[in-house]
Amino acid sequence: MEFEVYQTGAEGGRRAEMRLPHHAVQTPVFMPVGTAGTVKAVPQESLEALGAEIILGNTYHLYLRPGHEVVRRMGGLHKFMSWPRAMLTDSGGFQVFSLSGLRKMSEEGVEFRSHLDGSKHFFSPEHSIEVQIALGADILMAFDECMEYPAEEARARESMELTLRWARRSKAHFESLAGEVPWQVELGGATQNLFGIVQGGMHKHLRKECAERLVEMDFAGYAIGGLSVGEPQELTEDMVAETLQYLPKDKPRYVMGVGYPEEIVKFARMGVDMMDCVLPTRAARHGLLFTSEGRLNIKNKQFAEDQGPVDPACKCMVCARYTRAYLRHLMVAQEPLSGTLNTLHNLAYYLGLMEGVRAELAVG
Ligand SMILES: [Zn+2]
Repeated sequence: MEFEVYQTGAEGGRRAEMRLPHHAVQTPVFMPVGTAGTVKAVPQESLEALGAEIILGNTYHLYLRPGHEVVRRMGGLHKFMSWPRAMLTDSGGFQVFSLSGLRKMSEEGVEFRSHLDGSKHFFSPEHSIEVQIALGADILMAFDECMEYPAEEARARESMELTLRWARRSKAHFESLAGEVPWQVELGGATQNLFGIVQGGMHKHLRKECAERLVEMDFAGYAIGGLSVGEPQELTEDMVAETLQYLPKDKPRYVMGVGYPEEIVKFARMGVDMMDCVLPTRAARHGLLFTSEGRLNIKNKQFAEDQGPVDPACKCMVCARYTRAYLRHLMVAQEPLSGTLNTLHNLAYYLGLMEGVRAELAVG
């Protein structure tokens, strides 16, 4: 991939373009989460209309259902779900550690049981890479250990060392299979891009060491993982600030699994190029809407006859057409359209925040 930085702001924020095989993505960017080959409740044409340029797929879910070999035979996830723009898959590690039952860790990898039917599976760095190649995202992630929080230094170091060994194995396997991407011939021999993940718990010196040792391995981009796991927000910010300074300026930097609107704006201004979070989509399905005036719970009785839009400042297709009263009715009546409209608005809000930061950096 090519990553061209156009402007750098006073706090380190970068206005850049990340040219991936399927799409040139303007950064800083928010990536909607499309867990099982769908951003829940939203059709792909609506995501395009919202201006989403890159979405996430979850390796763990797609591996279990419909299965990565099915997706490979369908031409890769882009073709299977008819998504023409960029895509990133996670390594499956986070879900293996958080969702599945009875997991057994070893140097080799993780044995776990499916949350769907209890069947037994094994993920190693090599297997995660094979699954991600079959899915065929533009960006794939090295397999890492998602450590519990809080963790003492000794435990955090041991986990970081394992993550580094797994990063090396992920990269070696990725390079040995680089010619097997489903869309490679179609796209003139373009290849996927592998990112490394910085771990180290809440220990600054471990974050530094992990970043430096990953940079030596030379990945296409770098992610900061293991955050938003229950720690206070100031600590998240500290870890991001600390880690960013050891990551190369000419490669994309991705903070995984954050966050609230104010967090993603802050991180983008600090120099984070990519972020993803289930919050805007998950919250939407529960009726929690983010607006320029704060959050509102659309289920509340006060909106029963409210003729206004969700957010008067929002230019999305939902705010242009529907009232708070109607959205509240859909939610209370448990109509499926409720999830769709709520999600469209929340995603428009999140994507709009990043558009705002990009404009700010372009002017500055
Ligand atoms: Zn809206």
